[in-house]
Amino acid sequence: MSNKIKKHSPSDYTFKEELGHGSYSTVYKAVDKRNVKQCYAIKVCSKKHIIKENKVKYVSIEKNVLNILRKGNHPGIIKLYYTFHDEENLYFVLSYAINGELLQLLHKYRSFNEELTIRFTVQIIDILEFIHKNGIIHRDVKPENILLNRNYNLILTDFGAASLIDNDEDKENSNNSNATYNDIHVNRASSFVGTAEYVSPELLLYNQCGYCSDVWALGCMIFQFLKGYPPFRGANELNTFEKIVALDYHWNDPNNLVSQSWKDLVSKILITNSEKRMNLENVKKHPLFKNINWNDKEKIWLGTNK
Ligand code: ATP
Repeated sequence: MSNKIKKHSPSDYTFKEELGHGSYSTVYKAVDKRNVKQCYAIKVCSKKHIIKENKVKYVSIEKNVLNILRKGNHPGIIKLYYTFHDEENLYFVLSYAINGELLQLLHKYRSFNEELTIRFTVQIIDILEFIHKNGIIHRDVKPENILLNRNYNLILTDFGAASLIDNDEDKENSNNSNATYNDIHVNRASSFVGTAEYVSPELLLYNQCGYCSDVWALGCMIFQFLKGYPPFRGANELNTFEKIVALDYHWNDPNNLVSQSWKDLVSKILITNSEKRMNLENVKKHPLFKNINWNDKEKIWLGTNK
C-alpha cells in the first residue's frame, strides 16, 4: 500500500468569484470539490509576475509566517490550510473571511461608536500580543489588512511585509518593562514597508522598526475608528510622512463626541519616541479596558468562527 500523501492541485477546487487583488496576487472564493460546504479564499500568485516584480521575498515571508502562526490556532489570524503550485502559479488556500475588510465596514458606518471601538481594539490587542509572542512584527497593520469573519470577529491577514525576530530571549522580554519591550526589538528595515498613513516615525526617521511599530499602527487605527479617517493624512505621501514625524494630528472635536479616555490612550500610543510609547502590556492596563478579562479568550472572541 502506498504511503504517499496526495498533493493538492487547483483541480481539487471549484473557483468562484474574485474577492480582490493585491500587488502580486488575486484572491478567489473557492469550494473544495470533496466537501462543497467548505469554502476557502485561494490566493493565486503568478510566478512570472512575482519574479518580474521582485516579490519572491514577500511571498516566502508570508508563507513562513503563516506556517509559524497556524500552530497557535489563534482565531484572529488568517489560517493557511495548504499551499501548492503548478507551472504558472503559487496557491495559498486560506480561511474565507465572509464579511470582507474592516475598512469597508468603517466606511459603511463612517465611524465606530465607543462600544464597537472597544470590541475591535481588544481583539486587535489580543492578535498583536499573539504574533509578537511568536517573534513576528506585522509591519503593515491597517484596516484593509483586517478581515471580518461570519460573526464580525477580526482576522489579521497579509503578512507579506512581516519581519521575524528569531531570538528567543527577545521574545521572552516582550512581556517585560516598557523600555525593554520597545527598544530591544528594533530591527533595521531593509526597505520601506507598510502604508504611508500607518507607518511609524522610527521607520521614517531611522529606518528601524519593532513590535512598537505595530503598536503605533494600533494607535492610528483607534483614532480612525472613532473619527472615520486616520490621524495623519497629507495631500501626498511626503506630506503624510511630514505630519507623522511632526506628530501633527488633531481630533477636531469641538462637541467632545470622543471621550477623553480615548484621547488619552491615543496620546500615549502616538508618541514619536518609541521608548516612551505605551507597549501592549500597558495599553491593556488603561482604564478603558478595566472590564476586560484578558485571560477570558472566549469572551474576547465570542461566537468565533469555529
Ligand atoms: P497587497 O498584497 O498588495 O498588500 P492585498 O493585501 O489587498 O494587497 P491580497 O492579499 O492579494 O492583497 O488580497 C486582495 C483582496 O482580497 C483583499 O483586499 C481582500 O479584500 C480579499 N481577501 C484576501 N484574503 C481574503 C480572505 N481570506 N477572505 C476574504 N477575502 C480576502
